[in-house]
Amino acid sequence: MGRKLKAAIVGGGIGGLAAALALHRRGHEFDIYEQGDEITEIGGGLNLSPNALKAFRMLGVEEDVVAIGYQDEWQRIHSWRNGMVLAQQSRKAGIVQNYGAEFLTMHRADLQKVLYDHLPRERVHARKACVEAGSNASSAYVKFADGTSAEADLAIGADGIHSAVRDSVFGKIPPRFTGCVCWRGMVPFDAVKHIPQMHELGAWWGPHGHVVHYRVRRGELVNFVAHYDSDAWLEESWTRECGKDELINTFAGWNDALIQLFNQSERYYKWALYDRDPLAQWSKDRVTLLGDAAHPMLPYLGQGAAMAIEDGCILARLADESVSADIPQMLREYEALRMPRGSRCQLASRERAKEYHLPTAAARIWRDVRLALRNRFGTDRTPLRAEWVYNYDPAVAPLHT
Ligand SMILES: Cc1cc2nc3c(=O)[nH]c(=O)nc-3n(C[C@H](O)[C@H](O)[C@H](O)COP(=O)(O)OP(=O)(O)OC[C@H]3O[C@@H](n4cnc5c(N)ncnc54)[C@H](O)[C@@H]3O)c2cc1C
Repeated sequence: MGRKLKAAIVGGGIGGLAAALALHRRGHEFDIYEQGDEITEIGGGLNLSPNALKAFRMLGVEEDVVAIGYQDEWQRIHSWRNGMVLAQQSRKAGIVQNYGAEFLTMHRADLQKVLYDHLPRERVHARKACVEAGSNASSAYVKFADGTSAEADLAIGADGIHSAVRDSVFGKIPPRFTGCVCWRGMVPFDAVKHIPQMHELGAWWGPHGHVVHYRVRRGELVNFVAHYDSDAWLEESWTRECGKDELINTFAGWNDALIQLFNQSERYYKWALYDRDPLAQWSKDRVTLLGDAAHPMLPYLGQGAAMAIEDGCILARLADESVSADIPQMLREYEALRMPRGSRCQLASRERAKEYHLPTAAARIWRDVRLALRNRFGTDRTPLRAEWVYNYDPAVAPLHT
């Protein structure tokens, strides 16, 4: 058993909170420094696969997460115009048996609250925007925009895709615009329950775009995200509202079930999607990165939050099981363990972007045939070929490469 550590965690998103909980459960100390006025999440949905649920089991919150989660009967991939089902997987039968935990959708704010409620409040500090992080001989430091600073045994940059921690330790490299814009909204289920496809998790693949919808909040709301290839919008903000018309116009000609769904949202948000090439390094001396700060990815494999949560679990296990007090060495081990998986998800998500948005009818027909065959006869039972992702359990994954 290693000594108890003190971590300064920059960022109170899902990754920062999960890392804090993982350390807290093992008796380590932490402080979270969040730039916002409070710990809060925007109103979007999250689709969390069994690997994330196994991480919550390790964190001791699986039951609470299941309680706020919604379980669809089916996950279906539809053709964009006629709605034909191209592939499907039961979200109930066989999921726990095959992957060891449930597959759930939920409201981001509900998940954030579950994690936050399990942490000592006095260790979470709002209005603390990090401007610099680094290492001294025997400690890590974080400096804030208000002129204050903090010291700890290690500093963890969980501050998202525009990470100030990463910029200050590794230099500033802007993220890559992926050429894709998305719109999101939330619709009361009652307003669309007459549409059979809205009862299940649906993904619709079409020319230059795809749409995903699923239910959250005990099934009372339908969350949708509509993605489209475009370079006409570059702002990356989950809170930027926009008008309905541009969404409806962009998806003109798509199945009427989607158009009806889009029409029922009270608000519409627009967001340009960015990612990064896999980084060569996440850890330097006593500072490391996790979540989107380390491996921002397109949401097409549904793994960004799941990877952030896994990162925290592995970091905490290493902190706990490391026999030496050599923190830089421990952070190098963490990087060596997590980087291959994070990078693979980044690149696999990019690959999915091409597959979901094929522009020509011929390419789509060929893809749809392969998808249907794979779904029926393939060894990987998931429509997204993601068993390698779902099988992972951060509580028991080997800690030595
Ligand atoms: C459309 C869309 C759909 C998605 N769907 C899924 C899904 O279904 N499943 C899934 O697993 N993932 C999904 N993701 C990915 C997921 O949302 C992210 O990967 C995840 O939120 C990353 O968490 P994080 O804590 O690393 O970063 P963030 O959530 O970005 O949190 C970073 C936190 O750090 C704070 N911060 C930033 N800078 C500073 C600073 N300088 N000082 C202090 N605090 C700072 C921020 O305010 C924020 O609270 C989706 C993403 C998108 C865009």
